[in-house]
Amino acid sequence: MAKPVVCYLGLGSNLGDRLAALTQALELLNAAPGLRPTACSSIYETEPWGVAEQPRFLNLVAGYETALPPAELLALCQRIESQIGRTPTYRWGPRRIDLDILLYGSQIISSLTPDLQIPHPRLSQRAFVLVPLAEIAPHIPVPPHGLTAQQLLAAVDGSAGVIPALPP
Ligand code: ADP
Ligand code: MG
Repeated sequence: MAKPVVCYLGLGSNLGDRLAALTQALELLNAAPGLRPTACSSIYETEPWGVAEQPRFLNLVAGYETALPPAELLALCQRIESQIGRTPTYRWGPRRIDLDILLYGSQIISSLTPDLQIPHPRLSQRAFVLVPLAEIAPHIPVPPHGLTAQQLLAAVDGSAGVIPALPP
């Protein structure tokens, strides 16, 4: 078994009962073999990103210690998305649940296909990810440059649109 690393997952929902979708996703992740929860942020209500004409999201970030290889972690996230009822829409469109791998230790995975890129390719542009990540891991360095979550948050636009909705 590989040495465990700490990974951070971004969760989001903007369709149906958003809180129920996030809660169910956390329950499934927390019970998944190979994942041990280490931290969970507050829940934030956030402006949609990329495609503006859609309902507001609820977002959070959770940390896990894991020995699952990144591809298995992605497969687990995708199984949980289907289980909760994510159906394909358009890029950045509304979704009942979205699970993104934000960070996997200090690893960089930039495959030639877009199927798995770590850190998540849009992490440093997204206030809805950086606000909850900086809440639970402000000093974590984000590859490749090693700026911390807090430093990236200070540089990003849109953090005013990320409103605390519920404590952890
Ligand atoms: P976004 O998460 O940027 O809003 P989508 O959830 O629609 O976009 O994108 C899903 C696709 O992104 C999946 O096909 C998945 O293979 C790919 N992907 C690449 N890197 C990652 C990652 N780090 N975490 C989750 N999905 C990823
Ligand atoms: Mg996604």
